[in-house]
Amino acid sequence: MIKPHSVEEVINTARIEDIVEEVVVLKKRGINLIGLCPFHNEKTPSFNVSPTKNIYKCFGCGKVGNSVQFLMDHEGMTFPDAIRHLAKKYSIEIEETHNKNYDPNTQLEKDSLYIINEFAKDSFVHNLLESDEGKRIGLSYFKERGFRENTITRFELGFAVKQRDYLTKLATKKGYNLESLKKLGLTSQYDQDFFRDRVMFPIHNLSGKVIAFGGRTLSSDKKIPKYINSPETEIYVKSNSLYGIFQAKTAIRKADECILVEGYTDVISLSQAGVENVIASSGTSLTEGQIRLVKRYTPNMTILYDGDAAGLKAAMRGIDLILEQDMNVNIVLLPEKEDPDSYVKAHGSSGLEIYMQEKKKDFILFKIDLLLKEAEGDPVKKTGVIKNIVESISFIPDILKRSLYMRQCSQLLDVSEEILNDESNKMIQSRLKYQAKRAGATRQESDFIKPRPKPGLHQQAKTTAAAIGDEYQERDVIRILLNLGHLMYEEESNTSVAAYIIVNIKEILDSFDNELYKAIISESAGIIDKNESFAAKHFTNHENVEIRNVCIHLMQEEHEYANWDGQQLYLQSQKPPEENYVADGLQSIMRLKERKLSRTIKEIEQRLKTIDDTDETYSLLLAAYVKTKSTLSEIHKTLGTVVPSKI
Ligand SMILES: [Zn+2]
Repeated sequence: MIKPHSVEEVINTARIEDIVEEVVVLKKRGINLIGLCPFHNEKTPSFNVSPTKNIYKCFGCGKVGNSVQFLMDHEGMTFPDAIRHLAKKYSIEIEETHNKNYDPNTQLEKDSLYIINEFAKDSFVHNLLESDEGKRIGLSYFKERGFRENTITRFELGFAVKQRDYLTKLATKKGYNLESLKKLGLTSQYDQDFFRDRVMFPIHNLSGKVIAFGGRTLSSDKKIPKYINSPETEIYVKSNSLYGIFQAKTAIRKADECILVEGYTDVISLSQAGVENVIASSGTSLTEGQIRLVKRYTPNMTILYDGDAAGLKAAMRGIDLILEQDMNVNIVLLPEKEDPDSYVKAHGSSGLEIYMQEKKKDFILFKIDLLLKEAEGDPVKKTGVIKNIVESISFIPDILKRSLYMRQCSQLLDVSEEILNDESNKMIQSRLKYQAKRAGATRQESDFIKPRPKPGLHQQAKTTAAAIGDEYQERDVIRILLNLGHLMYEEESNTSVAAYIIVNIKEILDSFDNELYKAIISESAGIIDKNESFAAKHFTNHENVEIRNVCIHLMQEEHEYANWDGQQLYLQSQKPPEENYVADGLQSIMRLKERKLSRTIKEIEQRLKTIDDTDETYSLLLAAYVKTKSTLSEIHKTLGTVVPSKI
């Protein structure tokens, strides 16, 4: 326990503005400071920090507190950990009783995950710098890439040795819990190290804690995946994390610009060359959570990609989201056969900066160019291009900016501005209608007993305001259906993934929270019943504009199935999601079913309490109760050990 006088000293010394400023850009307003709230999504700042009172208060969501509270709410720290963290920051010596018996396994789960990751990171760093194997293989690789020692230290790069269970043994000997090691993806299901014979890139959160790892093999064996990553955990939500953000945040704020590149090594080389405002989204297209992370520091994003980038398409997918968040997006394509790493090596940081200034292109204009080239001479394709572009523009919240774009587009596309505006308005209207419908559903919802997921500690970076009940999970199912439905689930019985989904989802369809998703499932069931083959284009060309829009949108977000609101979804295998998407996808369907059935059980329990057992509905309810329970236990069996106990 930390002695009360130490706690007091820490609280009195800590400056709220110092702590908040690590994650929020603050501007002076009178005697206070103001910024965008890190706890809720907002466009105009309502997060107030009072240096004189040493507290913060958000007038949007009502969050209020001091430095300790901020760390607890924002970083998910426990009270003692927040005190320890602040003491370290302000070099305060604290007195603690029982300090020697500090056992990470008895701390909150989340804390222990951070601690174990830290331990693993230290071990990887030690291997790289001290062991013969690490020096020979890992360090020489980094040196070959031109990484200097201070860069290696800054990014805490490391090396995982070849020995099958080196880290696992080291960690368990130290008293760390094997289950936690497995959860973090450091230890595989066979009690061996997951990362072996790889150079290691730790992924940090905003405050610099290690939340996950990426490991790159140096072997030329094509069967070995080049990069493998930690699975998602309580402390690592992929869609809310960006590689390099911890090292880059100050520079991003200073430059008022964030440069987005594709890979870890691009981030590191650019940063080493002096271009420090750089981050990577690690291969997937940008998500809303990631954009919001950047937006805390700047509204300006420049995407820097290889000239021949396959990643360009992925960047395109995320772009509407970026526009919707009212960010200014530019793109710079590097000359052919160059990547950010090679370019900065050849031309230095000033060369790169000059190149970027010259070649920087507004993203929408860039998109028009690219798509028009593809559609050249094909009027049907061109119509598609126009729709696509107008849709992107329609996401821009600022009317003035939007109309400016419309004018430019009308020239480039050779279509009258009026037609473009009409089209854009239609799109905006249908989105508004859809939102209104969802808002309506929220109001009615209060009549039902619906246990909402407890807000996860990582939740500050998520937009949860719009989701109702299980909508996130339902959306995942639709996304899986659209993206994977046409694939084969089981060859022998000729069952498609779509058929598998429909069979499993049918009995919970009535409890779907989102009417649109419900309609899509019902219609799919019709297709499967008629023994027709399932094709996503049926929905992306659907006559109902709402269905069409939602499905097109979902088709653009593939491979992000693990983005579960408030619930942690542990992937059963630790294969990269690209390889394991069918299994991961189907697992999330079972999980949705589990949620719905658990909810049903609670509802029945409530009703049983209010009904006399002589009532004739009592026995009916009881029968339903028993049946649901047994179905649920079947699902638990299927899901195996990965069921989180809190459901
Ligand atoms: Zn707020």
